[in-house]
Amino acid sequence: MAQLSDDCFAFGNTLLSIDAALRLIGERLGPVVEAETVALGAAAGRILARDIVAGLDVPPHANSAVDGFAIAHADLLPDGETILPVTGRAAAGHPLDRPFRRGEAIRIFTGAPMPEGADTVMMQEDCVVEGGRVHLKPGLRKGANRRHAGEDIAKGAVALTAGRRLRPADLGLAAALGLDRLPVFRPLRVALLSTGDEVHEPGSELPPGAIYDANRIMLSALLTGLGCTVSDLGINPDRHAALVDTLQAASRSHDLIVTSGGVSTGEEDHVRVAIERLGQLHFWRLAIKPGRPVALGQIGGVPLVGLPGNPVAAALTFAVLARPLILRLAGAVEPEPSTFPVIAGFPYRKRAGRREYVRATLAREDGALVAAKYPKDGAGILSSVVNAQGFVIVEEHLTELAPGMTVEFLPFNGVLG
Ligand code: AMP
Ligand code: MG
Repeated sequence: MAQLSDDCFAFGNTLLSIDAALRLIGERLGPVVEAETVALGAAAGRILARDIVAGLDVPPHANSAVDGFAIAHADLLPDGETILPVTGRAAAGHPLDRPFRRGEAIRIFTGAPMPEGADTVMMQEDCVVEGGRVHLKPGLRKGANRRHAGEDIAKGAVALTAGRRLRPADLGLAAALGLDRLPVFRPLRVALLSTGDEVHEPGSELPPGAIYDANRIMLSALLTGLGCTVSDLGINPDRHAALVDTLQAASRSHDLIVTSGGVSTGEEDHVRVAIERLGQLHFWRLAIKPGRPVALGQIGGVPLVGLPGNPVAAALTFAVLARPLILRLAGAVEPEPSTFPVIAGFPYRKRAGRREYVRATLAREDGALVAAKYPKDGAGILSSVVNAQGFVIVEEHLTELAPGMTVEFLPFNGVLG
């Protein structure tokens, strides 16, 4: 369980920049999960709990990178064709069964161990074989087509660092080191709920004035994608007592609680009030658009993130705030999600002092990537997140974008699954 001090996120009621919020999270929160060992086949997407030090060289032996003939480079004539007898064979998994002798050529195949004393391989396409002898062209560099032992990873080197989210190539590397299991952090246990009397379960009949719950399934998939184990606590009505009971129970058996809706300042915004009653609330008015109101709190030492109800605001605040918080609790050490520079293809005006995330699509024009603003930009327009490709980030200090300016682009696929 998270061990948080009572005023862990305390911050006044002014607008808080996203960078300041992330700094507070980085300073006040750390991993809350224990390590466990899992089979390699179950480790994809899990977070590595310890550095993995190579117990052997990869590759374990020098070997041929091509099919051809292994020779000692010193046997080649400097400026004419060299003719050597082919006197042995080495294939992958079948090393030459005797010592190499100077003046001979060994038929060799990709992946076969280099015979001790041979240092160079001529590709079979560059050779002519006649009567048991190979004709080798001049000009081959010493060491050509030979792979060194340990050239991928040297024994004793750190091959994978703690905190990595394990990708398929990481698992391949672990396997190349001979490992069949890895130490990973156990999944973060997250309780997830929606709030709102108007919010109904998809698949049910929709009463007048109601809407279907779009946030919960989206957030659940995002959490699962980050490796969390999600407890689905359903839709909570806008009733104080019910919410208090739900949150209290959730805090007893989870590492984190994530809610959506009910965190504005209206009288039907019960999440804030319930957190205040049960623990500590740090209501943040983030200096971002969309997505301003976010509640951060803790109940019995368990952090709670209250995301806004508008689906786009929920998605954005998940991407820029909840996601890094979750990764931190789960033991991940990751670089910031990658943004890249694009050309703004649209004018844009805003107030200074807040960062705006403008949904946009990209197209290539004269070799440059140009961002077009998605035409509809309300915080409830979830189709914009479906149809656009990412956010153009309009920094705090800017008041205006002019077409042609360079801006940073945050692709959805890095942060929204
Ligand atoms: P709230 O933050 O509760 O004031 O909600 C803000 C807006 O988001 C309102 O229009 C809600 O109806 C809508 N909303 C809240 N929760 C959800 C949800 N789970 N799915 C879709 N829309 C929601
Ligand atoms: Mg509501």
